[in-house]
Amino acid sequence: MASTPHQNPTDQSDLTSLKGRIPLLGLTGGIGSGKTTVSDLLGQLGAGVIDTDLIAHQITAPSGKAIPLIREQFGAEFLDPSGALDRGKMRSLVFEKPEARKSLEQITHPLIRQETIRQALELSQAGRPYLVFVIPLLVESGNWQGLFDHIAVVDCSKDTQIKRVMERNKLTLEEIEKILEAQASRAERLSQANTILHNEGGLAELKPKIQDLHKKMLGFRTNQPTSS
Ligand code: ATP
Repeated sequence: MASTPHQNPTDQSDLTSLKGRIPLLGLTGGIGSGKTTVSDLLGQLGAGVIDTDLIAHQITAPSGKAIPLIREQFGAEFLDPSGALDRGKMRSLVFEKPEARKSLEQITHPLIRQETIRQALELSQAGRPYLVFVIPLLVESGNWQGLFDHIAVVDCSKDTQIKRVMERNKLTLEEIEKILEAQASRAERLSQANTILHNEGGLAELKPKIQDLHKKMLGFRTNQPTSS
C-alpha cells in the first residue's frame, strides 16, 4: 500500500543490471518543452529510445494492458467510446482527488516499468550505443539518482511551453497552467541537469546541440570497461 503520489514508474533496481554495460541518459523537461523532439533526433542518430510517456499512452489505448484494471477500479465511464482511457475525465479526477491519482499509478506504474525494462534490454541487446529514457517526471520522482550516467533537461520559457501545447491543440490554457503548477519548477529541474538543452528557437538551432549530446554519450561508451 505504501505509494507516494509521484512513485516512479520505473523502479531503478530493475534497471541496474544495465548500469556500466551501456551508457544511460535520462531525458526530461516540462510539458511541451521538446522532449519528444529531442529524443526523436537522438533516435535518428542511433540511440535506443525508451519513452515512458509513449508507453503510458500505449497501455491506456484501446485493448491496452491497463484498460481492464482501470475499468474495474474506476468504472467504464472513464473509458471513451473507442475503449481507451478518457484522459480528460481522468485528469480532472486526479487533480481533485490525490487518492485517485494513487490508485491510477498503482495500476499504470508496474505496467510501465515492465515495458520500460523489456524495451531497454531489447535495445541494449540490439547493439544501440546508449539508451535514452524519456521521463517527464524524472525530477519530481526523486528516485533516479545514481542510475543515469547523464541527465539532460530540455528547457524553454513557460510562454513557449503554453504556446506549443496550445498549438498542438491538446489542452486548454487553464489545463496547461494546472499541469505546469503540478510539475517541478524550471529552477528545480535545471538544478539536476548535466546538460541543459535550450529549446526556445527552431529545429536548426536545436540540432547541433543534439549532435553534441550524442557525441558526449558515445564518449561515455568508450570510457566504459568492456564487459566479457
Ligand atoms: P509533452 O510533455 O507535452 O509530451 P514534449 O516535451 O515531448 O511534450 P514535444 O512534443 O517534443 O514536447 O514538442 C511540443 C511541440 O512543440 C510539438 O508540436 C513540437 O513539434 C514543437 N517543437 C518542439 N521543439 C521545437 C523546435 N525546436 N522547433 C519547432 N517546434 C518545436
